[in-house]
Amino acid sequence: MTDLYRVLPDEMDELVKTLRQPRYRADQLLQALYRESPKDVSSMRQLPSDMRDNLSAVGYAVGSASEVHRVVSEDGNTTKLLLKLTDGTLVETVLMQYRSGGKEHPRSTVCVSTQVGCAMGCTFCATGQMGFERNLKAEEIVAQVLCFASILRERGEHVTNLVFMGMGEPLANYTETIRAVRILTHARAFGLGQRHITISTVGVMQGIDKLAEEDLQVGLAISLHAPNDKLRKKLVPTAGPNSVGDLIAATRSYFKKTGRRVTLEYAMIGGVNDSPEVAAELAALLKGNGAHVNLIPVNQTAGGFERPKWKRITEFERILKESDVSCTVRVEKGSEISAACGQLRTDMAKNF
Ligand code: SAH
Ligand code: SF4
Repeated sequence: MTDLYRVLPDEMDELVKTLRQPRYRADQLLQALYRESPKDVSSMRQLPSDMRDNLSAVGYAVGSASEVHRVVSEDGNTTKLLLKLTDGTLVETVLMQYRSGGKEHPRSTVCVSTQVGCAMGCTFCATGQMGFERNLKAEEIVAQVLCFASILRERGEHVTNLVFMGMGEPLANYTETIRAVRILTHARAFGLGQRHITISTVGVMQGIDKLAEEDLQVGLAISLHAPNDKLRKKLVPTAGPNSVGDLIAATRSYFKKTGRRVTLEYAMIGGVNDSPEVAAELAALLKGNGAHVNLIPVNQTAGGFERPKWKRITEFERILKESDVSCTVRVEKGSEISAACGQLRTDMAKNF
């Protein structure tokens, strides 16, 4: 069985040709898939019934994920879905909406997972603590976005941004992640702007280099978390041969090749990496680098790490800004609905 949601438009043209259908059928098929989110091949009524039968007969289908649980935050701005994949595995995906400037339509950012679990073992991350189960396929990544696309469509809204910041390490599942990006950004498929996508990595060097060579304009975020290797190793035990210096060099080369500035993510953990001394070290490391720092006060997980006191966070921010390091504090949305990476699955897995 091949899921139609992993088929790129060029491949769709080929497929339609092998079914002896005219080329415009490929566009009809793509429109049905990306505008109507059909439940199965037989419900795509724009296509002639013999074509639908043929598609099924040669092994094409749709439907790689179904919603098993939905949680909405009190303010209604964050929605989290727990999806069941065809093999029974559970993945989570989050929608974050930002309403500002009295605009009619909010910014609607979907946060997708790329793996079930993660092999990187970051000590503060719920996904890291699960261990690695498997890579997601492109269609399973696309399905997460489409679940929200159809929820939003009913409200006259649409997905505006996409971040690869859910469960797993996207660059450790490079091929399927990039296939999903190409499908989601292709004008004949989902049509999301490449510049509205950010891929977040803990620092898979080969993946960063490869991504810089792709003809894509996606944003890159690198999860740094510490200004030196000793501290970083405590938080990212599998950081391995990639030093903080290598990551900083990667931000420069990515910018040089793509013209896009890299964001550095810094999960702030009380008593671990939030002191003024660490802030000064980070400021010295990044002075003149041009990268933007996102300070993310950590969400509590089973690892027992605490969010720093607010004063420590603002002090840290002040020290960075004093050295002209651009930075923002990103308070994770939806922490009351366990919206941090891997948390809902950890909480809910026993129920499904
Ligand atoms: N594996 C990739 C992308 C997924 S994690 C990466 O690590 O970058 C996305 C972001 O969520 C990372 O910056 C990660 O550090 C952060 N994160 C993980 N657990 C968190 C927690 N408990 N609280 C806040 N942020 C967390
Ligand atoms: Fe994996 Fe990212 Fe979690 Fe680290 S923070 S364990 S890399 S998902």
